[in-house]
Amino acid sequence: MRKGLRSTDEINARFGLNLGPSRYEVFIPDHINEIIQKEGLDGIHAKQFLPSAFESSDMGLEDPIGDQEKYVAPQLIHRYDNRVLFTPTTICPVICRYCFRKNELSDKHEIFKADFEKVIAYLKSHSEINEIIFSGGDPFMLSASKIDFYLNQFSKIEHIKFIRFHTRTPASLPNYIGNEVIEVLNNYRQDFNDINIVIHINHTDEITKDVRNCIARLGSSFSLLSQSVLLKGVNDNVDDLVKLIYTLHELGVRPYYLHHPDQTKGAMHFYLSQDKGREIYRKLRRQVPGWLLPQYILDSPDGSGKRNL
Ligand code: SF4
Repeated sequence: MRKGLRSTDEINARFGLNLGPSRYEVFIPDHINEIIQKEGLDGIHAKQFLPSAFESSDMGLEDPIGDQEKYVAPQLIHRYDNRVLFTPTTICPVICRYCFRKNELSDKHEIFKADFEKVIAYLKSHSEINEIIFSGGDPFMLSASKIDFYLNQFSKIEHIKFIRFHTRTPASLPNYIGNEVIEVLNNYRQDFNDINIVIHINHTDEITKDVRNCIARLGSSFSLLSQSVLLKGVNDNVDDLVKLIYTLHELGVRPYYLHHPDQTKGAMHFYLSQDKGREIYRKLRRQVPGWLLPQYILDSPDGSGKRNL
């Protein structure tokens, strides 16, 4: 991370580009820069992580899934009856240019301001909540001791039965997940009915040897699921998705979600129509058995939640 690139000037110098300043945060860790160098500027890493002039377009929404309407305490979003989204960090292993939270993350918006006592008070007074989903930013950017602290606090609330982590770290900064974090998670296995890890990964080319190792380490203790975003120019074709699904299955990861891209301001160059997405998904169904097929979903801009496409 220390050797990562944090501005368009640094990116220009490394890749011989001529990008202007970005209105959004920039961060690409060193090992992804090495991959970009090998893969070239047409590769899926460059497409997902290098800033582009298209980001300055004002098309799209700042809050494309209506998060702001749904936060009930700092860092806590309550959209569905039984579960809440907890966003304890703004730090990511890499800044994805298509990120649906890119406007909130760049602003360090309210939903990321800490007031943990309010979080605990809300959870205690809502016994219908049985699952906490760690999101962000990326929860695996937190230190092992911080994760320990949160799990300890949540384990004291009797109605919290399930913990889920949504993370891009195994795919984007796999060596950052040390054994201490895995040990901490293991220590809480008895306190919850289940701890699930949902890995955000969009293309088979992201599955390097280090990524395989990281998935194997996590998979030896926890159920692993995947979520992928359908992205124009990155994975919007059936062959890449079929390959990704079967490779994930080989690694013990169950495909869970295929997200239709959100209409995010600064990321509309990744957007494709629902008709195009449905056409890809129809073909996918012909090549992948139902039990391996991720749900193809869209987060509604009004904040009402996921809708099956
Ligand atoms: S890791 Fe997740 S939250 Fe962070 S930039 Fe990528 S998509 Fe957004």
